[in-house]
Amino acid sequence: MYLKRIEVHGFKSFANKLQLEFDSGITAIVGPNGSGKSNIADAVRWVLGEQSAKQLRGSKMEDVIFSGTEMRKPLGYAYVALTIDNSDHKLPIDYEEVTVARRVYRSGESEYLINGTSCRLKDVQELFMDTGIGKEGYSMIGQGQIDKILSGKPEDRRELFDEAAGIVKFKRRKYEAEKNLEE
Ligand code: ATP
Ligand code: MG
Repeated sequence: MYLKRIEVHGFKSFANKLQLEFDSGITAIVGPNGSGKSNIADAVRWVLGEQSAKQLRGSKMEDVIFSGTEMRKPLGYAYVALTIDNSDHKLPIDYEEVTVARRVYRSGESEYLINGTSCRLKDVQELFMDTGIGKEGYSMIGQGQIDKILSGKPEDRRELFDEAAGIVKFKRRKYEAEKNLEE
């Protein structure tokens, strides 16, 4: 399983439709300051369901939409699609390739799609649960995050180990079963 392609349109500094292809193995993204390297990492976080504008280095969710430049008008929506090679079927879905997309309009209206079919944020979260890829997964290590892990509360650190051990889905099911019993 590896990130094969990312498509961005209207996300942050990417006004034009942009498609980046990745191979398996190591890829480095290089470029001058302010050229959009971190915006690509933000795009990955965002499509995986990041709900916090602050985590995306903005103050409100609308800040992810291209806000225009002297030469160019702002855009009305942001769109990001991630395509993951799933030929090893690590993702619990019967496709060799999985594309997860998210779109948000200035009105706040938004949608998630898995292989072109509209779905809920919960479906995206469940798809990546226990794979390490989710927005809380260890596959995205942001600046300052290592420090946070080392100096964090043991309970927070435990979450990372649960994800790596692949038991988050069982904990979630147990929690939901207990909740249903109470109701
Ligand atoms: P550094 O090397 O300094 O870390 P970087 O390549 O990581 O730089 P980014 O932080 O990804 O750069 O990109 C910052 C640029 O993105 C800034 O020029 C900022 O104006 C632009 N930007 C961020 N949000 C938007 C937006 N909504 N609309 C237009 N441009 C945006
Ligand atoms: Mg940066």
